[in-house]
Amino acid sequence: METYDIIIIGGGVGGLACGITLASAHAKPWFQERRVLVIDDGNSDLKKAKLFNAPGVTPGTTGTEALHTMRMQFQQYPPATLHAGSACSVQREGDHWTVRTSDDCAFTADVLVLATGYKRWEIDELPVSPIPHPRGGKIDRIMLEHDGVYCVATDLYVAGLLGGGSSQFAIAAGIGAQVAVELLSGWAGKRTHVHDLPENPQ
Ligand SMILES: Cc1cc2nc3c(=O)[nH]c(=O)nc-3n(C[C@H](O)[C@H](O)[C@H](O)COP(=O)(O)OP(=O)(O)OC[C@H]3O[C@@H](n4cnc5c(N)ncnc54)[C@H](O)[C@@H]3O)c2cc1C
Repeated sequence: METYDIIIIGGGVGGLACGITLASAHAKPWFQERRVLVIDDGNSDLKKAKLFNAPGVTPGTTGTEALHTMRMQFQQYPPATLHAGSACSVQREGDHWTVRTSDDCAFTADVLVLATGYKRWEIDELPVSPIPHPRGGKIDRIMLEHDGVYCVATDLYVAGLLGGGSSQFAIAAGIGAQVAVELLSGWAGKRTHVHDLPENPQ
């Protein structure tokens, strides 16, 4: 069984923004040798979009192109691993999460981030249940209740629209980045963030 520090289920906008921000801190001394896994089955809502209003994204970029760029951004960092597959079940075993996928893989981690979007709830044995999403625009949209900075339960976070944001690229990405900053601050033992500068090598 492969072991990670953080598993993010869902590699759409929220999950990849979380993964990119987390992995971008890899050179900080307190980051140590931590590893981040994103599990994704390739059904992001963004695939249906052509973006003109997403901040920082070149107007006319397709959602598929934007997702490709985000996956490349994540994978440029040493701690990053991307697994293509569907997460089927999640179990809490002691102080670890175990995630099993449809292609018969199993992964463990200390921390789990759910970034599966606001439409799907298919993973067995999760210890939390969704509620109706008040900003989702349609009756069947879902979210998870959290503490205000996206912690749902001990070592369990929510990112992207499942965290309760409205359906905009920037909002989904922002929730993912905020989750990452919360987790990085825990590792650093103080409030932190990750700012890239021209002189900093990747
Ligand atoms: C038609 C359309 C047009 C849009 N146009 C715009 C626009 O112009 N501007 C804008 O700002 N926003 C736009 N959006 C909104 C934008 O796409 C969403 O806000 C964003 O994709 C939400 O990010 P998310 O991470 O919450 O969900 P998603 O991006 O949908 O990502 C969720 C990911 O989780 C994965 N997943 C779910 N369950 C599992 C599982 N069990 N195992 C593994 N993976 C799983 C899915 O495959 C998916 O990749 C548009 C949306 C649509 C539908």
